[in-house]
Order: sequence, then C-alpha cells, then structure tokens
Amino acid sequence: MLKTIGQQQGRRSWAEPWKIKMVEPLSITSRKKREKALKKAGYNTFLLKSKDVYIDLLTDSGTSAMSDRQWAGMMLGDESYAGSINFYHLEKAVRKYYSYKHLVPTHQGRGAEHLISQVQIKEGQIVPGNMYFTTTRLHQEMAGGKFVDVIIDEAHNVNSDHPFKGNIDIEKLEQLIETHGADKIAYVSLAGTVNMAGGQPVSMENIKAVKALCDKHGILLYLDATRLVENAWFIQKREDGYQDKSIKKILFEFCSYSDGAWMSGKKDHLVNIGGWVAVNDDKVFDKLRNLVVVYEGLHTYGGMAGRDMEAMAIGIKESVKDKHINARIGQVRYLGQLLEDWGIPIVKPVGGHAIFLDAKAFYPHIPQDQFPAQTLAANIYLDSGVRGMERGIVSAGRDPKTGDHRYPKLELMRLTIPRRVYTEAHMEVIAESVKAVYDAREEARGLKMVYEPEYLRFFQARFEPVS
Ligand SMILES: *Cc1c(COP(=O)(O)O)cnc(C)c1O
Repeated sequence: MLKTIGQQQGRRSWAEPWKIKMVEPLSITSRKKREKALKKAGYNTFLLKSKDVYIDLLTDSGTSAMSDRQWAGMMLGDESYAGSINFYHLEKAVRKYYSYKHLVPTHQGRGAEHLISQVQIKEGQIVPGNMYFTTTRLHQEMAGGKFVDVIIDEAHNVNSDHPFKGNIDIEKLEQLIETHGADKIAYVSLAGTVNMAGGQPVSMENIKAVKALCDKHGILLYLDATRLVENAWFIQKREDGYQDKSIKKILFEFCSYSDGAWMSGKKDHLVNIGGWVAVNDDKVFDKLRNLVVVYEGLHTYGGMAGRDMEAMAIGIKESVKDKHINARIGQVRYLGQLLEDWGIPIVKPVGGHAIFLDAKAFYPHIPQDQFPAQTLAANIYLDSGVRGMERGIVSAGRDPKTGDHRYPKLELMRLTIPRRVYTEAHMEVIAESVKAVYDAREEARGLKMVYEPEYLRFFQARFEPVS
C-alpha cells in the first residue's frame, strides 16, 4: 500500500491551517524560452522577469500570501501623515510579542539596519555576529564598523548535524573582547535562524550565555529578528524545557535577553513590505527617531503606508501561532526529506525557510571562482523554470582591503519557500527538477562574471558560460 511520508515516519501528517480563497495562475514556459530568458538575464536569476518563472523560490522576502484578515486590515489604513492609528496597532503588537518598549517603523529591514548601525557604531569599532548577512554587514561597514564572525565552527560544515548551528561561540566572543577591549565592541549582532548558514537556529541557552557575557563587559546585544519566530519553533522542538511552551512565549523570552532588534517584516510578518527597529533604551530611541525622519519618513510611519502597518500588525499575530509555524516549517522539511531520500547533497539539518543545496558537492569539478552555486541556480531554472538563488562566492563579495573575492566555505544554492503560497504538490515538482539536474551534474560547466556591480554584487552581476 502506498504510504504518505507521515505514515512512513510513524506519525500523522500535518496540513496547512488555511484554505485557498483566491488563486494566481502560474506561467509554465518551454525550455527554449527559458534558455533565451536566462541568457538575457546574464545567467543571474535576480535579473529574470517573473513572467518567465514557474515556481519562484528566489526568496521568502515579501513573497508571503496575506490572509483575508490582513487584506481587510488594508482597508482600515489611516493615511494621516502623523500619528496614524495603524502605527499604534503595530507598536502594540511589537511590544506584546517582541518585548521592546520603543518602535521605529522603516520601509524594510535594511532601512532599520541603516539606522541602528549609524546610531550605535563608531568609526573603527567591531561588530561581532553569528555569520554575516549581506545587507547587515554592509550597513555595519558603511557606518565605520568591522564585522567579525563568531559563529560556532559547525555552522561552516554542511554535514554537521548540530541542532543549533546558529549559536555564537562564547569562547570566540570572549577572546575578541579580551583582545580588543569592550570599548572597541559596538554591540553584539545576533541573528535568529542564520540565513547564510542555511536557516540554522540559535538556542535559548546560547542567547542567555551571550547576554551574561555582554552584561559582564557592559556590551549591548541586538537581534536581527527577521526570522525569530522560525527560530522559536526550533527551540520548542529541540531544546529541553521548551516542548510545552508556546511559540509566543519562547519568542518573548528570547527577545527579553536583548537590548533591541531590527526586523525585515517581509519575512516572518507575512507582509509584502515593511520593517522596524525597536529598542528599550530611551536615549537610543531618541537618536533613532531623529534619524528616521532623514532617511525613511516620520517616526509614526517610517516609509510604510498606514495600511501596510495594519497588515503587519495582524501578520505578527498570525505568525506566532503554533499551527502556522508548524505548517510553514513542515513544508520546508517535506521538500528537504524528498531530496535527502534521493541522496542529494543539502545542508543538514534542514533550516526554517529554505533548502540549501551544496553546490561544491554537486559540482566538484567546477572551481569556486567559476561560481558553482550560480551555475546550479541557472541549471535548475533551465530544467523546470524553478527559480532559486546563489548563496556562495558571488554573495560573499570582495574583501574591501585586498579587493579579492572572499572565498566562503559554504557554496550554496538556496531554494526559499514563500509562506502560505505553494502546496505540497509544488514541493514534489521542485524536488524532481533538482533530481534531474543532479543526475546531469557531470555535464555542467561553470560561469565567468562579465559585469560586476560595486555593492551587493549578487543582485545585478552578469555571467556567461565558460568556453
Ligand atoms: C532580508 C533580511 C534582511 C534585510 O531586510 P530587507 O527587508 O530585505 O531590507 C536582514 N537580515 C536578514 C537575516 C534578512 O533575511
């Protein structure tokens, strides 16, 4: 008898805790059309037109499906320039679920990163963090800081099955503080479910230890809260003492160990645009509120329309429901399970928002400076119209001092699952395409970069196949 994956694993299956009210047709293209489109896009999936894409796994950023409640909230937008009621709804939600006293809305996550970096980093200071994120590090560097990675070594090893690969290495952090002195540290920058490591979580025990060390030296601790709800799910599933605690409780406790956070609402919050920075300290808040009017907008909208703030406030409440997050991560793990069963090299354990294919293991014959992960993204698109993205040498950029490529240990290709958008049948189509590309791996050839932008090059770089 045919068994579902749930039955094979001796459990009952989960299902999405929603039903579909409105549908959006997908465009299904021919291989010939995709070849043309990819060439035109310089073999960079960021430069493809979405009409040429079938299943879009470029990112989970701003690609969520909003609920009927959120759409209803959009109609309640109070578009007053100052003091919009929707701002107060958002402020209340952030206080209630994320614990912070003061909220400054921004147009999206990087707007928040810009503000906090400008306010809290002095020229020449160090910002230790659990692996870099592209926009976060850039804003820290542009504010005169130097990012130093203090993530545990397991994070750089695709085969390590450490349950909390996003953890900070306390010894590395301690060493850094000892070497440079606490005055030289701007703050510790801790991200939940570390994106660049494959969506790997941080344990409660770890943030407590980081907090204790920071307190000992009078150093501030700020969170990248972008995917903290997903992080809370891993704590609930993997950390002793949290099995019976709700996602809401875990999220609140996690945040309570920090001095503030920045957020890309386009991820966990189930909206298409928006972000915020929130802190407890009155003086820091005052500085942030001052700066937001220069770059984003008045402190009660910060680059968001009233309706967007309302949708975000509602999205926050939906995002912390256990049923929601179980299904969201369940779908990612389902795709991971299919690929693992076929022996396809992926980052394990599977993270919260995406499957990361190990491009070095796919294409051992392609040297890293011929962009194996970029090549893999191109080949999967050619096979099926599924669009993913590179997270390897192109994303890592160049060392600002030497001008050389940074050669990251991880050369990954990311298949990111949007929230509440695709079904399990889509996951199967995706897995089958990855398998087809894996089976043809020996024929693959690398790429050369023919155009390179100065900042965040992965967005706009152009490539050609090597001859
Ligand atoms: C997306 C993201 C950001 C930046 O947010 P934007 O809304 O894209 O500007 C920051 N940190 C992490 C971990 C992210 O995933």
